Amino acid sequence: MLTDKPPRKASCKDEFQRSDTTLTLSLPPELPVNTYAALLEAALREEDRRAIQSFCNKIAGCVAEVYEVEAPHIRVLGVRPLEESKGAIHETYGDYTFETSEIRLWMRTAILEKATSYGTLLSTLCHELCHHIDVVSMDMPNTFHTRGFYERAGLLYHHVRGTPRRTLVWDQQQNSTFRINWPATMRGGAVKTGL
Ligand SMILES: [Zn+2]
Repeated sequence: MLTDKPPRKASCKDEFQRSDTTLTLSLPPELPVNTYAALLEAALREEDRRAIQSFCNKIAGCVAEVYEVEAPHIRVLGVRPLEESKGAIHETYGDYTFETSEIRLWMRTAILEKATSYGTLLSTLCHELCHHIDVVSMDMPNTFHTRGFYERAGLLYHHVRGTPRRTLVWDQQQNSTFRINWPATMRGGAVKTGL
């Protein structure tokens, strides 16, 4: 995972800085969101697209409730397209469209058309939910991928899944971006959630 380059526009610099230094976010109560996550895992095992979509929407509803905002609509689609359209923030397995507050997740890989793993689907959902929260609740319309953004997305993911989060270790790149150093992050071990 790689952060965005810091923006040049002065009006965006403040937002980027705030995003980079905001390491926590409000989390929904563990119940029922942990239950929905477990049901999502079971639905993915069954490759039941409708049930997957339903539990993703339930999780999104729990997160939106904490922020007292409208939940984004989640659509779960089949095989991930190789080409991406404009007007959306693109991720490998999902995207978020500002105008419609819609999150799309693809449950199958493009080449082998295999169902994606539970961890990948849930972390993509949490990543896109963090974009939504940035835009509708945190006055961060550009919703940059900063170190803080990835910290918040990781915190949400582990909270929803009910697993201990890890402290992310970052390597600075030459162009002022940062990349997660996964081996160092994994060596660092898990830390308790509850921020
Ligand atoms: Zn993103």
